[in-house]
Amino acid sequence: MDEKVALVPCANYNKDKVDNALAKALDCFGGLEKFVQPGQRVLLKVNLLTKRPPEDAVTTHPAVVKAVVQEVMRVGGQPLIYDSPGGPFTEASLQGIYDISGLAQVATETGAKLNLDVAASSVPAAEKARVRNFTLSQAIATADVIINLPKLKSHGLTRYTGAVKNLFGCIPGLQKAEYHLQLPVLEQFADFLLDLALTVKPVLTIMDAVVAMEGEGPSAGTPRHLGYILVSPSVFALDAVAVNMIGLKETEVPTTRLARERCLLTSMVDDMVMGASLREVAISDFVVPPPGGTSFRLLGHRLSPKLLKLAGRWLGARPVFQAEKCRRCGICVRSCPAKALTLNKKQPTVDLTKCIRCFCCQELCPAQAVIIHRPWLSRWLIKH
Ligand code: SF4
Ligand code: SF4
Repeated sequence: MDEKVALVPCANYNKDKVDNALAKALDCFGGLEKFVQPGQRVLLKVNLLTKRPPEDAVTTHPAVVKAVVQEVMRVGGQPLIYDSPGGPFTEASLQGIYDISGLAQVATETGAKLNLDVAASSVPAAEKARVRNFTLSQAIATADVIINLPKLKSHGLTRYTGAVKNLFGCIPGLQKAEYHLQLPVLEQFADFLLDLALTVKPVLTIMDAVVAMEGEGPSAGTPRHLGYILVSPSVFALDAVAVNMIGLKETEVPTTRLARERCLLTSMVDDMVMGASLREVAISDFVVPPPGGTSFRLLGHRLSPKLLKLAGRWLGARPVFQAEKCRRCGICVRSCPAKALTLNKKQPTVDLTKCIRCFCCQELCPAQAVIIHRPWLSRWLIKH
């Protein structure tokens, strides 16, 4: 697979700036016509994690989505805007998110369709994958071409979320919680995400890194201006470049580390970048949370399941619920894959013997009432 990544400056979300940056990036690969044929149904997999406006930097910005929609239409494709956000996957919940995220307006202005099909379909996994089948959204299974449109953000579980992780939303609704439950260890989950990316096989990834999110991402962090659009035919290469750009090493993000181990990434990262020098654009102070999930690896050692359980008890991060911010909406309780939460009078309480540390509760809380607490011993060990 072509491991080149176009890294093009885009100062803000003004239409001309976004259109020019996208055109410049696509030109590096011979234009969108190389990837989309006239008449094809082109599914745009945006990031619509939860009901939030564009200025919160949680969702793919409508200006970027609109520019891609117009490019798809220019080459004769039929764009369909799609995501399966966290929580229930219903027409009503999708419509609410499209409205708040600004994508309903994009559809009105351009004539693009918004996906409202919530059906699922079983799809055989790709050749190199380690599982046999995936339950995917029907819209994903029936698209001719998929273009991945992630937002660059920090993440409490995987540290960074971008091209590969965005494809988790190809799995419909609460089925995602099922997969979390089956894959509680970080490396298992990351491996699964790589298999999913190989199966969904987007022809292109176009990343919104104009305003990213740092800190307690993917939904409770702080918007951070980076000023770039990244484009690549390889989800793995794009993530490798983005991870380096925000000052992380490939080995610090489970999906990029495993992609390298599984030979899904073969080029050196400096050789991937087109349009800029990675050294010039790298940011040294981008705030990324420390590792949060339960991992087989601790300080370079591989742990047995028994030790893993013990280490998890003493060193594991855990969700903490802040009563002063909690609105008692119950979203976290309904979305918890392990059924580890109970809503009491002031806030939810967590049963840590059941909690699998997926941090869906933090991701989906509309009030930023959930923080990830990392015990001091774990923070000390990571530092030293
Ligand atoms: S913690 Fe957040 S998601 Fe959970 S009940 Fe409170 S406000 Fe709702
Ligand atoms: S309590 Fe939160 S972190 Fe624990 S399993 Fe439930 S959603 Fe995941």
